[in-house]
Amino acid sequence: MAKKTPAGWTRKHLLGLEDLSAGEIRHLLDAAEKFLPYATGTRPARALAGKPPVPPGPLANRTVLNLFCEDSTRTRTSFTLAAERLGARVIQFQAGTSSLKKNETLLDTARNIEAMGLDAIVIRHPDRGAPQAVAEAVNCSVLNAGDDAHEHPTQALLDFLAMRHKLGRLDGLTVAIVGDIRHSRVARSNLHGLSKLGSRVIFVGPPPFLEGLGDIAAPVETSTDLEAVLPECDAVMMLRVQFERHERNVPNGAGPPAQHPAEGGVAFDLEDYKRGYQLTAKRLARAKPGAIVLHPGPINRGLEITDEVADGPQSVILHQVTCGVAVRMAALSLCVGALERERKSAKPSPLTPPLSRSTQRLSTGHKGRGRQKRGLSREGRGRGKSSAGA
Ligand code: ASP
Ligand code: ASP
Repeated sequence: MAKKTPAGWTRKHLLGLEDLSAGEIRHLLDAAEKFLPYATGTRPARALAGKPPVPPGPLANRTVLNLFCEDSTRTRTSFTLAAERLGARVIQFQAGTSSLKKNETLLDTARNIEAMGLDAIVIRHPDRGAPQAVAEAVNCSVLNAGDDAHEHPTQALLDFLAMRHKLGRLDGLTVAIVGDIRHSRVARSNLHGLSKLGSRVIFVGPPPFLEGLGDIAAPVETSTDLEAVLPECDAVMMLRVQFERHERNVPNGAGPPAQHPAEGGVAFDLEDYKRGYQLTAKRLARAKPGAIVLHPGPINRGLEITDEVADGPQSVILHQVTCGVAVRMAALSLCVGALERERKSAKPSPLTPPLSRSTQRLSTGHKGRGRQKRGLSREGRGRGKSSAGA
């Protein structure tokens, strides 16, 4: 049963789906729906980018920092396109994980770039909780583009939008999420969101991939038997085996399984894995008629999914990618909108000068740098305070 969407969006950050209500999730999806024509190119993006006679884009004159401390192609591209189509200027910051390993360094970097005038930071980081830490340290909006195996909220939201288009609803569904659940932030964000929306999620995989789920507060349903689960499924989401997160991966059965589970070690036989969990056309035929196939990408073709299924009529994988731009346009505009309202309602303070004045100070040599330094530590205190209520 659809609940009423709240009148407004009040969060300046999007850090995960665990803390959002069902109403907030629907609000984001409804906003994304409106941006979809711009994401698909049905309406030219320049219509949102301020070319007369159309009004300026919602993020015109705003600056978004893509702070990516882990490899990404599509998420970064998707956020970049989303921000640009809203009229924003995007700065790319690609950090090696070694240079920004410690949160202190990350926070310094975020604060320093923010001091040059920022409206939003989109962050991907290998440490769980890094986006939250940045959000507490800065004044601008922060959007999580994936932190360790914790959350990837915009990925789950784009999955929901694609499901809603193809299945017509997001409640009463049964969704199997299959594969390397243990290392998947996508699985976790999907579970949080879908269970709030009234759907059932079943995590499916071999036992080593179903371990280490103790961090999830929500009830978790698991199965090791894909073929038994498929007849109940309206949607099947295949996950990539995240080899880079397996501290100790021993393919082809060399060595005993999960010898060092506490360190994230996973040992499994690739051929066994394919036999038990690869989504083939024959297997997919067991799912409910009209069931759809999703994958967050990148796909390991021939491992978790066959070409025939990935490119087949039930696959919505490319539609997910399109939905991603719309979802990120919605997330950026809603969060920055909430930030703007907060900035407008904040009392003018000498400690947090308006952007134009602080920018002038930054360009005045030694004197400016001294002021900037003092402002940073004072703002740091103020930030902690304001983000507590955000
Ligand atoms: N890690 C993959 C990539 O960057 C998928 C993602 O972007 O989230 O291509
Ligand atoms: N793109 C997703 C992520 O970044 C899934 C993956 O990389 O396999 O988590």
